Amino acid sequence: MDLELVTIGTELLLGHTIDTNAADLGRTLAALGARVQRRTAVADDATAIADAVRAALARSGFVITTGGLGPTRDDVTKRAVADVVGVGLETDTAYLERLEQRWRQLGRAGPMPAANRTQAQHPAGATLLPNPRGTAPGIWLESPAGTVVMLPGVPHEMRGLLVEQVAPRLAARAGRVDVTRSRVVRTTGVAESALADRLGSLEATLRPATLAYLPSFDGVDLRLTVWGRPAAEADAVLGQGVDLLRAATGEWCYGEEETDLAAVVLELAQAAGVRLAAAESCTGGLVAGRLTAVPGASATFVGGVVAYADAIKTAQLGVSDAILAAHGAVSEATVRAMATGVGARFGATATVAVSGIAGPTGGTPEKPVGQVWLAAMCADRVHAVCVGLPGDRHEIRARAAQAALDLLRRVLSASRDRPR
Ligand code: AMP
Ligand code: MG
Repeated sequence: MDLELVTIGTELLLGHTIDTNAADLGRTLAALGARVQRRTAVADDATAIADAVRAALARSGFVITTGGLGPTRDDVTKRAVADVVGVGLETDTAYLERLEQRWRQLGRAGPMPAANRTQAQHPAGATLLPNPRGTAPGIWLESPAGTVVMLPGVPHEMRGLLVEQVAPRLAARAGRVDVTRSRVVRTTGVAESALADRLGSLEATLRPATLAYLPSFDGVDLRLTVWGRPAAEADAVLGQGVDLLRAATGEWCYGEEETDLAAVVLELAQAAGVRLAAAESCTGGLVAGRLTAVPGASATFVGGVVAYADAIKTAQLGVSDAILAAHGAVSEATVRAMATGVGARFGATATVAVSGIAGPTGGTPEKPVGQVWLAAMCADRVHAVCVGLPGDRHEIRARAAQAALDLLRRVLSASRDRPR
């Protein structure tokens, strides 16, 4: 089944908002076996919207729009589409009553503003798609000119409606089963080129799935995709492929899909029954930030110290003046002392420490920009490594936080696997 997308919003054209709705729709629709033939972004302008929808309907007979369903004056999608299809707007009285109920439940003062009442309006003959995440319902409009599905612009509302309302209707309508699906295996601490060397000979075995390498600051994601196959076959091919990739990437692999390394670390720490703490210099709290972004972090993570100046490393973490004078702040001896120091300070049994040169200044031939020392302590053993990280200050700091979490992951896994 072929269709077109029209994403609506002046902010998309000005570049203030990235058109993530178009990307989400493309991925999800492909996974359902629908093909996006073209996408158009237009301003919040009734004529521009009408022109785009009319042309897209003429080409494909099926259009999905996002945006412009809100209660404000710039939200003109419904009116524009009604004009294209040649119908008027009507009010859904049951939905209007629900909006008013919600207004009262939220304890808002006075009567509901007239602007909100427009959210119960839709082109005559359309079906409203309930939106539990917001006040603008989706709208499914069938007409002699074709089908127009209007979704709200707010990304999580759009995604919810897409999965819960649009996908089942499309599947029922298409009556065909070929899909394009992907799965991702996440790796870190290994260069893309080294991975490619290791996996090159595997690519033939992975067929009909194709393999893409997607590097970022966090590592290299391996995306396997099966194109245009029945769903059960696609899932089986992907399942086998993921098993092969996990086995081939071994210790570099920390999860699948959207798994966050910080969440993996917290799970390992919780299983080991440790209290976790961080001592950070060049990452300035990024490691603690990553850990505390995960819901439930408080079960294991107790706190951290941002010990940026040498005086703080000494006063708060007990790193001795002698160590700092002999080896410098970016050194194995210093990160080891930071890791044990934060453990002693917080009564933590697993810790991580980071000290490095984020640049752009401060590098020397012996300690160049990007050199970062990491240490992780678990069960009274301290493991330290030195990494050389590429990029600007922002990139080096982000990579250092990820590398610190990865060292912690490795140390916690090794301690779990070690016979007692
Ligand atoms: P709207 O439904 O047009 O009022 O959009 C509500 C908000 O959703 C806008 O302020 C944007 O921040 C966001 N938004 C709208 N369209 C898109 C899009 N295509 N991609 C990502 N965000 C969007
Ligand atoms: Mg808008």
